[in-house]
Amino acid sequence: MIDFIKDEFVPEPKQIPERIKKEITLDLEYIFCPFCGHPLEYHYLSNARPLITIKYDISLRVVHKRCVNEECVACVSKRNFYNPSLDLYVLPKKTYAMDVVLLIGHLIQQEHYTEEEVVKYLLEEHGITISQPSVNNYKRIALALGETLIMGNEEKIKSGLDGLAFRVYSIDGLSSNRSRILFVIRDLISGTVLGSALLDRHDADGIHDFMETVFQKFGVPDYMVGDGERGLIGAVRKYYSNIPYQYCHRHFLNNMGKALMEDLYKVLKKKQIEKTL
Ligand SMILES: [Zn+2]
Ligand SMILES: [Zn+2]
Repeated sequence: MIDFIKDEFVPEPKQIPERIKKEITLDLEYIFCPFCGHPLEYHYLSNARPLITIKYDISLRVVHKRCVNEECVACVSKRNFYNPSLDLYVLPKKTYAMDVVLLIGHLIQQEHYTEEEVVKYLLEEHGITISQPSVNNYKRIALALGETLIMGNEEKIKSGLDGLAFRVYSIDGLSSNRSRILFVIRDLISGTVLGSALLDRHDADGIHDFMETVFQKFGVPDYMVGDGERGLIGAVRKYYSNIPYQYCHRHFLNNMGKALMEDLYKVLKKKQIEKTL
């Protein structure tokens, strides 16, 4: 009896959930170049990189394709095409996926966990091994996402954009849980991510703040392409009524895109020739 009673006070060690291992090859659904309609060609398959999500230990490889139509801006600028969801779920050079980053941010901001508590929680609840300095690093990323995260080499991206005849930015929103939306702004020509933000306030004013941060860093676009997110259209109408805005990428390229792309193609072609001379 006494043994039984004693045992009641010794908590059972928690069963650490087992991780599910997966090998994923992220393919690209487009068959045709969105800039010219020419069939895309397989370019390469990236080396496997580890990616840790809340549930899975993924070994991720990404299919890259290219347009080989020499008359096309995407071909001239050697644009790589890969599945666009990559930029939404995976941060460049980071092992932990966006869901883990958001969870860390949530635990620290909303639940007021310490970094040590996050380490313990992720291990006990999800079987995720993460160091405390890493939690600190991802906490900063999560906090920055609440505002605007600029990825990559700002100066290099900026000088690339300055060399263009005009700027076309695309803005996409991805609904996440907890009614927050992750927005990503890209340079449509190169596909470079200019900034992303996880917004609680995704009304016109909230989205405008995010757009403004990116525009101040990289310049105001001459054209914008976006999806149908209501707040986004509101922000564009209210704050950027002078910038032509197209509802979706494909329509942009069908409507005014082709003519613009031809001009851009000439500029890039000229640059390429200058470079080789
Ligand atoms: Zn093309
Ligand atoms: Zn459309």
